[in-house]
Amino acid sequence: MVPKKYRKVTIKYSKLGLEDFDFKHYNRTLFAGLEPHIPNAYCNCMIQVLYFLEPIRCLVQNHLCQKEFCLACELGFLFHMLDLSRGDPCQASNFLRAFRTIPEASALGLILADSDEQTGKARLGRLIQSWNRFILTQLHQETQEQEGPQAYRGASSSSLGSSGESAIGKLFGCEVENSSLCRCGKETVRSSLTLLFTMHYSEQSSQEKTKEYDFAEILKKSICLEQSTQAWCENCEKYQPTVQTRNIRCLPDVLVINCEVNSAKEAEFWKVQAEYAFNKAKKKEAMEPPKPKEPPPMPTEWCLDGEEACSMEGFTFDTQAEDLRHVWIPLTLKMSISKSQGLEVSSWPEGEELSAAEEADVGETYHQRKEGVTHQQWYLFNDFLIEPIDKAEAAQFDVSWKVPAILYYAKRNYHTKYDLRIKNPIDASVLLTEASAGDLVGLDAEFVTLNQEEAELRSDGTKSTIKPSQMSVARITCVRGQGPNEGVPFIDDYISTQEQVVDYLTQYSGIKPGDLDAKISSKHLTTLKSTYLKLRFLIDTGVRFVGHGLQKDFRVINLLVLKDQVIDTVYLFHLPRKRMISLRFLAWYFLDLNIQGETHDSIEDARTALQLYRKFLELSRGGGTDEVRKVLKGLYEKGRQLDWKVPDSDTGDGQGAAVFPSVMGL
Ligand SMILES: [Zn+2]
Ligand SMILES: [Zn+2]
Repeated sequence: MVPKKYRKVTIKYSKLGLEDFDFKHYNRTLFAGLEPHIPNAYCNCMIQVLYFLEPIRCLVQNHLCQKEFCLACELGFLFHMLDLSRGDPCQASNFLRAFRTIPEASALGLILADSDEQTGKARLGRLIQSWNRFILTQLHQETQEQEGPQAYRGASSSSLGSSGESAIGKLFGCEVENSSLCRCGKETVRSSLTLLFTMHYSEQSSQEKTKEYDFAEILKKSICLEQSTQAWCENCEKYQPTVQTRNIRCLPDVLVINCEVNSAKEAEFWKVQAEYAFNKAKKKEAMEPPKPKEPPPMPTEWCLDGEEACSMEGFTFDTQAEDLRHVWIPLTLKMSISKSQGLEVSSWPEGEELSAAEEADVGETYHQRKEGVTHQQWYLFNDFLIEPIDKAEAAQFDVSWKVPAILYYAKRNYHTKYDLRIKNPIDASVLLTEASAGDLVGLDAEFVTLNQEEAELRSDGTKSTIKPSQMSVARITCVRGQGPNEGVPFIDDYISTQEQVVDYLTQYSGIKPGDLDAKISSKHLTTLKSTYLKLRFLIDTGVRFVGHGLQKDFRVINLLVLKDQVIDTVYLFHLPRKRMISLRFLAWYFLDLNIQGETHDSIEDARTALQLYRKFLELSRGGGTDEVRKVLKGLYEKGRQLDWKVPDSDTGDGQGAAVFPSVMGL
């Protein structure tokens, strides 16, 4: 039986979309979950693991480059949102969109077809491990390639040499020596950098009873791998049986392990090992009388990398044997490397420090930022569900439903040697014009859909959304909200898209096929990234956005904007528990303007929203909230009479506000 918190979570979409979905029910922390229902969101859990590694959180937010699709840049934008959020979930949509364009990702089979994701055909355990390998390699390359003034300049690493220049290399990189010994006696050694290790389990015949192994023992064998294979020998000038051995020269700050539990055989191995460990612990408990609480022992020194010594604080935990059911991995490993002995690995039964896929040990600095307290706690991250868990649970793998995939072991206090400051690389140069804190900016965006929404008809004839249509922003317009240039657009970008558009929604968006095609478009066509950077600069500067239904705009653009920077005319002209009113109706009612007659134009919409805001200010200044309420009541009364259709409009009923599809917002 899979406990509820580990099961796949889904969002119930109501007629209002997401607005009344109770995310707080799934997450009472101030950390941000990630939404499912975006193609390839299977990697949400690993995005969280990367986020909670402080040097990576900082590295990608300091990174910015010119490449249109760069995962380091996109992770930086996403992590910025995770930092800002106070418990509301975020979406990895732009990151995943960039991810889909990386040729290596599709070559590795990491891009899932929609159908595979839904039918559960995808072998997620294997998939997430390939993803893990891919992302570390990709980030390593992307953050290395970068040059120029905006390049990230972390503390330089001397021990790893040129191959470890990126912070990724410094954090995960491990210089390994691969030696290959032919039976003729010729040995060739080459060294390389590896960012992660995979577990190798001892071959055993099926009849034999599985022997007992310590996790540390298997890990050591997996790192210092010895294999016999056929390889080319220069001496013999032919393929020969050779013994390949791998040795490591140093220990990484974060040891990443792909567990490779990909079949019933490996799962059985874990199960048997956990049973051995559990029985041992039970026996031990039975023999020992309950021990009185001991004072913490003196700090223990442990050796890492032959020369660096890290001190470790001593803790004792009253671990009950029952907590050790299904546990094979230790929460802490002791590792050392020396010239004489080579690598030594042993389990460290009392202590803590590990991050596993979907489960992360969240350190002090994260709590400090979010909650103003410093402590450590284990959490389960399951899309938008976040729950504190006991540390014992983190190491428990009942392989009948919980299969280990990826382990991250971090060196104690490893982050102290990294530069953990974030210097926002997005500066005024992205905007080409000026903006200051407090400026009013009218904003409107138009969308196209990339795939149709999936819905089912209930027996009573109403529709319920299973999966919302995937929208893509096609045009973003910002107009000045004050000063001599009030109403003048300073951003009016059409966004090129490489993905197939299934519906241009021309009637609502004003976007025509061809507008987004670089070869034939007459519009100012840009990349999503360049326009995104302009908006991020405006947000970071502290402007206030005025628009109609901005929540949806920001959601599709994939931006998080704090509430005090958003003035949404949908909510200004709204009475509690009543319907939302369209921009078109408000413009007619308050401004005597007939907009959106033929089609939508985002310059017109942005200007109209600004004018409505001015109108609202005028009303509140005139008579305060009572006056506004009275006016709103009149508005709703009029709307009801007219069935929310703007009278005498040139267009037919089909385009009236009342039939505006819910998917488009307002
Ligand atoms: Zn980049
Ligand atoms: Zn040979």
